[in-house]
Amino acid sequence: MKIEEIEKISESFESKEPQEVLRWAIDYFKPKIALACSFGLEDVVIVDMISKIDPDTRIFYIDTDLLFKETYDVIERIKKRYGIKPVSYKSEMSLEEQEKIYGKNLWGRDPNLCCGIRKVEPLKEALSGLDAWITGIRREQSETRKNVRVVEWDELHGLVKINPLVNWTLGDTFRYVLQNDVPYNILHDKNYPSVGCYPCTRPVMPGEDQRSGRWSGFGKTECGLHVKTDHQEKI
Ligand code: SF4
Repeated sequence: MKIEEIEKISESFESKEPQEVLRWAIDYFKPKIALACSFGLEDVVIVDMISKIDPDTRIFYIDTDLLFKETYDVIERIKKRYGIKPVSYKSEMSLEEQEKIYGKNLWGRDPNLCCGIRKVEPLKEALSGLDAWITGIRREQSETRKNVRVVEWDELHGLVKINPLVNWTLGDTFRYVLQNDVPYNILHDKNYPSVGCYPCTRPVMPGEDQRSGRWSGFGKTECGLHVKTDHQEKI
């Protein structure tokens, strides 16, 4: 698919419902398409939508070995509710090896390196062989996400990226979860709109950006999974 074609399709999907975007993407790319699921609020919405469109669609997640207990709980609840088996990808380096090489609590000194080892490398493996991936990112979440398109070329990973919820607010997302009785991470009820690894996630205060609880104090807002290349930033 050419870049111009992707841009045209994305434009035409701006006012469409996420389910319509997902239906098109799954029909077009299956079986080389997968949902990258963090089991955050947006991703459980997409799991629910996918289960009603095509329950065989591939779902994977990155297990850093540093997820909250509440996240592992919701993974189990989602598996049971939808009868699915999301594939887990992990770093080849165990936490013990990481500590031996880089010292204790690498995330507290160099979170980019830690995310690179525990998230970015496993993601590369998860995406290999795919033509498209689906994510739950929304424009409202942060400054770095405000220009995200519904369908875009992911230059960094070399495949198409589908973002069906870009136009949704946090309220839209919660409404869908409640109306459809979707299992969700109970940390979302405790002022964690965005949940990552436990050493790098704190609750958000009123008026703060929805992702400000991630890597607080580091000026870092993305783990490296949704970073754009310089070229893409200019498009
Ligand atoms: S979010 Fe924190 S703990 Fe998790 S991989 Fe990134 S730096 Fe490491």
